[in-house]
Amino acid sequence: MSEVDVDVVVVGAGGCGLAAAISAAEQGARVVVLEKLDRPIGNTGVSTGSIPGAGTRYQREAGIDDSPERMAADLLRQSGPHQAEDLVRQMAAESAALVEWLVEEHNIDLRLITDYKHVGHSVERLHAPPDRRGASLMRDLLAEAKRLGVDIVTGNPVGRLLVEDGRVAGVHVDGPRSGAYDIRAHAVVLAANGFGNSREMLERWAPEILGAQYFGAEGSTGEALSWALELGAGTGNMGAYQGYAAVAYPHGSIVSWTTVEKGGILLSPEGHRMGDESLGYSGFATVVSAHAPESYVVFDAKIRDYVRGNEPEFAELADIGGVTEAATPEAVAEAIGCDAEAVREALAGYAAAVAGEQADPFGRTDFGLAPLEAPYCVVRSVPALFHTQGGVTIDDEARVLRADGSTVPGLYAGGGVATGVSGAQGARGYCSGNGLLTAVGLGRIAGRSAAAQRP
Ligand SMILES: Cc1cc2nc3c(=O)[nH]c(=O)nc-3n(C[C@H](O)[C@H](O)[C@H](O)COP(=O)(O)OP(=O)(O)OC[C@H]3O[C@@H](n4cnc5c(N)ncnc54)[C@H](O)[C@@H]3O)c2cc1C
Repeated sequence: MSEVDVDVVVVGAGGCGLAAAISAAEQGARVVVLEKLDRPIGNTGVSTGSIPGAGTRYQREAGIDDSPERMAADLLRQSGPHQAEDLVRQMAAESAALVEWLVEEHNIDLRLITDYKHVGHSVERLHAPPDRRGASLMRDLLAEAKRLGVDIVTGNPVGRLLVEDGRVAGVHVDGPRSGAYDIRAHAVVLAANGFGNSREMLERWAPEILGAQYFGAEGSTGEALSWALELGAGTGNMGAYQGYAAVAYPHGSIVSWTTVEKGGILLSPEGHRMGDESLGYSGFATVVSAHAPESYVVFDAKIRDYVRGNEPEFAELADIGGVTEAATPEAVAEAIGCDAEAVREALAGYAAAVAGEQADPFGRTDFGLAPLEAPYCVVRSVPALFHTQGGVTIDDEARVLRADGSTVPGLYAGGGVATGVSGAQGARGYCSGNGLLTAVGLGRIAGRSAAAQRP
């Protein structure tokens, strides 16, 4: 390759891109991160910032016994068979080192969450910023990347890859203000996330979720995936995605799933339960979508106060009036706008299951802090698509692979651009933390491998 401008170009300043940049920079590489939007937020910035780590020091200090084998078994149980099972084992094996690398070597403030396990995990292993906001994770990652001398250039969308003799040699940028220019590099890391914000790509790969509201970041329009496909990249798990059953409407913030894990239920606009809510927030999104365009999360005041004490975003939702208190089942029905008898029946059936007087009609066995007691709480919500989980095939160094198994020289991918670990199809295979695990985890690996491309 002739002269290069930098060693590594990273496309996208989200969790994957910044972890890749930090990892490459700590190897001594010259790194530039190109971000198409004016503010680097990405899905990472709107997430709750939770990253799973199995066997971390923080788990040991809290007396939690965990291992990569247990984590891999949990993820595979939730996902069922799929095209990236080796990646699950690799991510689980590296997860504790990943969390400790972020916290201890790179000043990222993550704490083990002990008040819930969340979907798919058999022990407490999610590590998140103290305020459980992805914006805090982004703040820390950006500060660390800058401290290591990484150039982060915002408002500069990459338009295509530069390819010379079959090798990726840099990127072409369509800078709206700076004009078009090329950056040449030894390696390019695709960290631009998936295609949740591309209706055309969803129609092709995940049409069943088109009816749900898209709640992820604006930048996830799938172009990086298309460039890799043009170079012959293979793909995996293209029909998989993370849904979320309950985004508060019209407030537009997540109704914390802790309200459901601690005993809440979801009622249809007619006042009926729709399924086993312990399926998780992602899998239950398709259950809700199949019933109605909206639903109502019902819990009680003790659950509200518990979640409010731990989760600032939920406290904000309550403060702005997103959580309606209802003194009786009839008041719950009034908040929903449905027949009171349906709500009385739903609550009575659920209470009987909690008391062990009858099996839950949908097979739910974990009731958290239930029985639900007056005063009840009601949140109107809609099901949402958070992000896609299918993407290009990579090897264990995050190198992009062609469909025939050969590598695309100079090209690396992670996060939403790469094949995910959440099953082959649909929303049910998603475990909490799968998104950031493959974003930050593969970013770290991609950055290290990309830096090694320097002569
Ligand atoms: C509400 C919500 C909550 C979530 N909570 C969690 C959680 O707690 N734990 C978890 O593991 N996952 C969670 N997820 C999923 C998680 O946020 C994503 O899987 C993860 O952030 C993806 O990281 P990324 O770096 O691949 O993408 P992003 O963080 O989206 O970053 C990609 C960046 O690339 C930029 N970009 C795109 N195209 C170009 C281009 N052509 N040129 C330059 N830049 C470009 C984008 O603008 C964006 O800034 C959540 C998602 C949502 C929506």
